[in-house]
Amino acid sequence: MTQPSIQQQNLAVELRGVNKWYGEFHVLKNINLQVGKGERIVICGPSGSGKSTMIRCINRLEEHQQGDIIVNGTRLTEDLKKIEQIRRDVGMVFQHFNLFPHLTVLENCVLAPMWVKKVPRREAEATAMQYLERVRIPEQAKKYPGQLSGGQQQRVAIARSLCMNPDVMLFDEPTSALDPEMIKEVLDVMIELAREGMTMLCVTHEMGFAKTVADRVIFMDAGQIVEENEPHEFFNNPQHERTQLFLSQIL
Ligand code: ADP
Ligand code: MG
Repeated sequence: MTQPSIQQQNLAVELRGVNKWYGEFHVLKNINLQVGKGERIVICGPSGSGKSTMIRCINRLEEHQQGDIIVNGTRLTEDLKKIEQIRRDVGMVFQHFNLFPHLTVLENCVLAPMWVKKVPRREAEATAMQYLERVRIPEQAKKYPGQLSGGQQQRVAIARSLCMNPDVMLFDEPTSALDPEMIKEVLDVMIELAREGMTMLCVTHEMGFAKTVADRVIFMDAGQIVEENEPHEFFNNPQHERTQLFLSQIL
């Protein structure tokens, strides 16, 4: 096997010529994307443009049919061992939190570390409490998700992902199901994470967040990456008509 190049070693995620279809429908069209370690990417674009599908392919919640997806130097294939490895390294936060409703906050946080990583309960709980403190809800540890507000549930979801000590975090519209007054408390946690150097790919239409933390903003439309740029240029000088139209609708 050939050694990975220096450049490849510094990449957290790479998509090369990725194509995906749902039946006849061509949902991802020749996607090329390189995300460096520690880089923060914001992905935006109209509903149905393929944003969720693209990030779900990165941890194999969806399967692509053509091209290569390489995460932390491991190329995604059918190999279940590699898929497990990548799911350990890549955390994901969803729009609707996806917490286990019948488990307490603390149990939600220790489940994967204990069962996937075989971390002893005492240690898993100590780590979970550290992260619950970081997202500022340690006092909710013994409650069930249904007893928490949306913003608190989303912060639990972030803490739960962090308990696996991921190298990359994927966010799929983490604030779009939240009431306006709760959006900030979730974005503040994400901003902190970004400042600590986490590699992040965030699908979001929170353009303030994009301007604050993104190294690059990516605009998708109809299954393609239409445009990408650093935030200042992206917002002030969008090149494509479709980007201009999109920005005029959301800003
Ligand atoms: P976005 O996140 O940008 O709104 P999605 O990635 O969710 O877009 O969806 C892209 C397109 O793929 C949409 O037209 C959607 O209807 C379609 N799609 C998404 N998931 C499926 C699926 N499981 N089966 C068939 N079509 C799907
Ligand atoms: Mg989506």
